[in-house]
Parts: sequence; C-alpha cells; structure tokens
Amino acid sequence: MRAMMMDVPLLTTSILRHAAEYHGDTEIVSRLPDGALHRTNYAETWERCARLAGALGAFGLAPGDRVGTLAWNGHRHLELYYAVGGAGMVCHTINPRLFPEQVAYIIGHAGDAALFVDPCFVGLLEGIADRLEQLPSVVVMTDRAGMPASSRLPDLLCYEDLIEAAPKGFDWPELDERDACSLCYTSGTTGEPKGVLYSHRSSVLHAMAVCVPDVFALSARSVVMPVVPMFHVNAWGLPYAAPMVGAKLVLPGPKLDGASLHALIEEEGVTYTAGVPTVWMALLDWMRDNGQSLHGLERVVIGGSACPPVMIKRFRALGATVVHGWGMTETSPLGVANTPKAKHKDLPEERQIELSAKQGRPLFGVELRMVDGHGRDVPHDGTARGSLLVRGPWIAAGYYRQPDAPAFAHPGWFETGDVVTIDADGYVQVVDRTKDVVKSGGEWIGSIELENIALAHPAVREAAVVARPDERWGERPLLLLVLHDGMFVTCGEMAAFYEGKVPRWCIPDAMVVVQELPHTATGKLQKARIREMLRAGELPPVMTA
Ligand code: ADP
Repeated sequence: MRAMMMDVPLLTTSILRHAAEYHGDTEIVSRLPDGALHRTNYAETWERCARLAGALGAFGLAPGDRVGTLAWNGHRHLELYYAVGGAGMVCHTINPRLFPEQVAYIIGHAGDAALFVDPCFVGLLEGIADRLEQLPSVVVMTDRAGMPASSRLPDLLCYEDLIEAAPKGFDWPELDERDACSLCYTSGTTGEPKGVLYSHRSSVLHAMAVCVPDVFALSARSVVMPVVPMFHVNAWGLPYAAPMVGAKLVLPGPKLDGASLHALIEEEGVTYTAGVPTVWMALLDWMRDNGQSLHGLERVVIGGSACPPVMIKRFRALGATVVHGWGMTETSPLGVANTPKAKHKDLPEERQIELSAKQGRPLFGVELRMVDGHGRDVPHDGTARGSLLVRGPWIAAGYYRQPDAPAFAHPGWFETGDVVTIDADGYVQVVDRTKDVVKSGGEWIGSIELENIALAHPAVREAAVVARPDERWGERPLLLLVLHDGMFVTCGEMAAFYEGKVPRWCIPDAMVVVQELPHTATGKLQKARIREMLRAGELPPVMTA
C-alpha cells in the first residue's frame, strides 16, 4: 500500500528560505581579504540569492550547466551555493590550491560555463587561460572599486554590478530532489582528481544528519566557523547545516593563520569550528607562543586526516571538546563521527582520549562493511583489519563522466581505499590508506599510529611514515620528522620512545629529519611525493638506530 504523505522535494533552496523566514536577523560574518569584517544576515542573503539567480539567466545557462567557483569562505561564495543550485545549475567549487594544470583540467573536465572568482584568483586564471579550450565568462566576486585590471582577461564582470542590475525576487523552479546541485573534485591524493556530483536530496539529508547532538550538535544557539574551505567537500556540509538550524555563520576568508582564527573565535563568540589537523596545530602553537586561551569554543570537529591524540589533549586543556570525524569527497563528506556513548562516561581520562582518537561510529544513514582481499567480511572486533566499504543516500554512486571507476566495483557499495578496524561498538579506526600501509614481512604496519606516537614527542612538530624498500622484509617503515626550532633527536631516542607503545617489529628503524613535508591542496601529507623523493634520493641522509 502506498502511504499518503506529501512528496515535498528535499531542495537546498528550502534550507535558506527557512533560515531567512525564521532566523532572518541571524548574522553571517565574513573576513574580507583586507582583514575587515563584512556583516549580513540570512534574510538579506536570501534576497541577494534571488537576484543572483536572476542574474545567472543573463549568461544563457541551461539547467544542469556547471558554474565554477574559485573562492575562499565568504558571504558571496555562500550566495553562489544557494543561487546556482536553486536555479537548477550545478555549483562547482574548485580548489585553488591545486596545481594550476589540475585546476585547468578540472574546469575543462567539468565543462564550466561560467566562473566566479575571488579577486586574488584572477592571476591563477590568467595563468591557465591558454590551457582552456574555451574560456568561460568570468565574474569577479567583488564590487566595482575592488575590480582588478587584467590584460589577459579583458571581459571580467563585476559580481556586485550583476546583483544590482538584477530584478528583485526570483521564481525558484520546482526541481527534482535527485537533480545535481553541486560538484566537487577529489584533491587527487591518489590519482587524477575525480568529480563527485551531489544532489539536492543528498545535501539536505547529510545536513540533517550532521546537526544531531552525537555528530556536530548544531542549534540556533551555535556560532559556527567552518575553517575547512568551501571548495573542500562543501566545507563539510556546514553552509547547509548552519542555516538549517539558524546558527550564526562566521566565514574566515583567506586568513587561516593562528592569530586571525583566534581573533575571530574570541570576537565573534564562535562555539563550534571544523577543519583539518594542520590548521589546528598552527592555532594551538600560536596560542601557546602568545599566552592566549579560548573562552567560548565548545567543539572542534577535526578530520580529513587523522587527529593525533596530543591535539585532543591540548584542546581539552583549553575547554573545547574534539569531535574526530572521517569522511571523503565521495561521502559528502561525513561517514563517521566520534562522540562517546553513555557507557564511556566514567572511563578514566586517558581511556577517553584513546577512544576519541578513533575516527568514530557511523551516522544513521551510512552503512559500513569491512572486507579482506577476497571480498569476505571481516569481524568487527576492534583488531581485525579490512578494506572499508560504505553505502548510503549521501555516498557517491559513480564519478562525473567516469561512472565505472574501480571504487564502484562492489555493486551497491563504494570502496573507500582505507584500511580500518571496527570495534563491537561500531567505532572505526583508520589504520591507513590502502596505498600507504607498510608491508613488512607479511604484516601490515599502519603509518597513522606511528605518526601519532611521534607527534607526542616534545621535539616533533610534524611526522610522516612511509614504506622504504628492504631486502629482508620487503618494506620497513621510514620515519620523517620536522622538528621544533632548536630541537634535536636521534633515531635511537625515537626508537626508545616507541618502545612499549607498539609491537617491536613496527618500530621505525630508520629516520630522516627534514625542513618540511609536502602536503596536498587539502593539507594532507603527500605520501606518494615522499616516496618519490625517497626513490630519487632527494631526501637528506637516512639515519638508522
Ligand atoms: P583525497 O582522496 O583526494 O585526499 P578526500 O578529502 O576525499 O580527498 O580524502 C579522503 C581521505 O582522507 C579518506 O579516504 C581517508 O584516507 C582520509 N581521511 C579523512 N578523514 C580522516 C581521519 N579522520 N583520519 C584518517 N584519515 C582520514
């Protein structure tokens, strides 16, 4: 029997409409490139979105056309999220930190019909203009006074002029909730960037799922600062989740250094923030060096790469709770988040930190499987390792213009490429990326645990572990360290530091101290590049214990 309930489509537009109607005066604060703060609210943003959606018509765009953005977190980027998707087009957020040739590849692959760019990215676009088969219309996200001059791109349009010239109001189309609203490419840590095409439905469901108390715990009393960029998996869905509950939004623009973030947190009363570990390390170090503390920050969601336990402890000491999460571009991104259960309440502090260093348990809506090399299910006992597969309404079913990629070889499931353990309570721990595990004498050594231990050493600022070819064992872990200024440590001292924390055969027996480690555009360690440097003899001499 068919139910008799209304079939109202889940559209992202309905999120902002709701925020405008019931939280109209709730603020959206953006840090502008010159450091000044811009203030608006949901009511005004909704009005401007309607004008922007109308203005898009002038580009002759058709439903489904891709509209690219190259922009930091700010109010205009937020307007594009809603106006483009709501008008039936696809908002394609491009990561400007990728190599220029990757940016050109992505624009071409997506077939962007128009590009909206922050003034600071006009230079990037000039540099790749020759590589683009067809140069889309380019709109600079600024007012007339802020328009840059460009001899290479003479037809630049001004965002505020477009909005001003557009009529008030817009007849938002009744879209199918399964229509695409946004597009984001993976950052290419493991190959060419691949396009993930989100639907209105997947974006709304993901936003609803992350607001709940055991995940992000967002409400109309929250002040939300997404530090994770809006070009990285829709800033983890926060531009949808925050307006859904009427939370104040604080958008940090291009200024992601410790001092700027600290100022925003303190001055705007931020209660909740989210980003990758590298950003937080910089903030924590800046605060320590400048004798600063935090006053209202309640939660920090950390993901994208493993959050070391030492970071969880440092935030706890400042009165903020870390929620570790795991996700991918392909999973919208949130798949699992770490909050304790009732039975964990009375655990000793050290055990609680140990537990919260796991990546977390699945959100309702995300189903997990863990399989061995033969596709057989592996027990969820917290020890056995396997390859993680996921499915759910906000998990990709194929890549844009590449639907048959190997990651979709298990029918109905997406293969994440991560090696994990899952315990009886459902907490997932990422051991490594399949491509990064060190295969030593038939055993698998996960690099993440070794890196986390090294990071707890007082001399260590950053750590990476990669496989190093070994005649006897096949591979052995090589530890690469960036040290704090004026610090020194030997391979023997580090080996002693590992003693008792991991089995003996896992302890790295070779070490390299480097000035810096290579990172991807999303701040992750670029292990493939480190292995390449090792092969090419580009690393400083290897020390052995
Ligand atoms: P890319 O695949 O290009 O790096 P993504 O941002 O989609 O871009 O990366 C997803 C990957 O990041 C996951 O498959 C996983 O390996 C890693 N990752 C994400 N969150 C965590 C985490 N909390 N701990 C460890 N690894 C993580």
